[in-house]
Amino acid sequence: MVSGYAGDNPRDHCGVFGIANHDCAVELTRQGLFSLQHRGQESAGIYRYSDGKCLLHKAMGLVGDVFREMPPGFAADPGSMAIGHVRYSTAGGSNLINAQPFVVEFDTFNLGLAHNGNLSNGGYLRNHLKQGGAILQGTLDTETILHLAARQHTMGSPPWEALRVALKQTEGAYSIVALCEDGLAAYRDPYGFRPLIMGRLDDAVVFASESCALDLIGATCERDVEPGEFIIIRPDGTMESGYFDFARRKSHCIFELVYFARPDSHVFGECVYGVRKRFGATLAEESPAEADVVMPLPDGGIYAALGFAEATGIPFDLGIMRNHYVGRTFIRPSENDRRAAVRLKLNPINEAIEGKRICLVEDSIVRGNTTRERVRTLRDCGAREIHIRVSCPPHVSPCYYGIDFPSREELIANNYSIDEIAELIGADSLAYLSLDGMLSCVQEHPLNNYCHACFSGEYPLKPMATCPRT
Ligand code: SF4
Repeated sequence: MVSGYAGDNPRDHCGVFGIANHDCAVELTRQGLFSLQHRGQESAGIYRYSDGKCLLHKAMGLVGDVFREMPPGFAADPGSMAIGHVRYSTAGGSNLINAQPFVVEFDTFNLGLAHNGNLSNGGYLRNHLKQGGAILQGTLDTETILHLAARQHTMGSPPWEALRVALKQTEGAYSIVALCEDGLAAYRDPYGFRPLIMGRLDDAVVFASESCALDLIGATCERDVEPGEFIIIRPDGTMESGYFDFARRKSHCIFELVYFARPDSHVFGECVYGVRKRFGATLAEESPAEADVVMPLPDGGIYAALGFAEATGIPFDLGIMRNHYVGRTFIRPSENDRRAAVRLKLNPINEAIEGKRICLVEDSIVRGNTTRERVRTLRDCGAREIHIRVSCPPHVSPCYYGIDFPSREELIANNYSIDEIAELIGADSLAYLSLDGMLSCVQEHPLNNYCHACFSGEYPLKPMATCPRT
């Protein structure tokens, strides 16, 4: 799930985790971040609070590298409350200054914040803050939110009130965990673009981007943090919750279910595994293929391919081996070495491919260049026919809510018809799941509770003119 901006798939984005009132808060946060690693591999960080002392450790790299050994302060005091973050830059540069959690020192307290999503008025707010004399270190929306909170705090608001007022000035996607001496808090934007789930582990309260992080630490899932809701866990264990903004039309990101979330997670109340199989089955009903074998592009296409195979009765086979040990350095190919990079990451098994009519199931095609290389590789292995089936509709519009698609001009489906794309990537046939078909596969929310703007161009919330990604 890590093809990258230069390839056919969009980049992953971020994962957040928080735990309050547990003796091993830091260690459990580290474990939670391991589970969320698929949401970001550029940097990882943990901010913990214990008995009046706050400590932050963050660095570039994977969770296993950043927290191979616990920094001395964490080892000596595992904390009672902690928040953590894994990051892939969807806006802002890829460097340590933009790693999260982001912590600011106010006059009487420190406030740490970890954030998943993009503000659609982030550019406007940054300009506004700069014009008012604010000095910003990085390029993150997270820092913008903290500056807004700091300004509110100077007017006398206590920390959580300051953050609430700050968030009311923002627009866009955010699922936030925040930590200060006053406790740990979770906030979710009024549209509910990004997931944020709450669970319990004994007396501890846990928040995470996905339920797989709760599973790993043995916590039980309780419920989603609702759009527009805040939940504060005080150091004495008391909980306060309410709404900091009125709920807008819910706009859960359907692409979380297609691509981002782990299949063993529940997201927006849906079992991701089950939804992906239904995507595949619906795709098979809409666009069957005459093939000897259904083959996924691992790992993203596996569950849709299973659904496709079950629906059609065509045998399922894993004819392409994914190398799970390719580091990030190797997965951002230049144009020149793209073919080698595709081989390095995904190697076909000749015996499973030679002479076969293959129905190749992809989870998405964004630019088309990596798919073209994959098709060429399968042809080299002797595939007789290659029919590509994609388990979501064509991507025609960029995302302003935290997913790093290329610009509209670079999206292959924005420039070519489906037949033209099939010819460009060298497939014998190509079909995508329809928008209606995709929406028919979700069960937990009414269809109009989902954002599908990157497929339909229908944005729940238009970006402001100064947004960096307009
Ligand atoms: Fe998700 Fe697409 Fe909406 Fe972005 S535009 S939030 S990727 S559905």
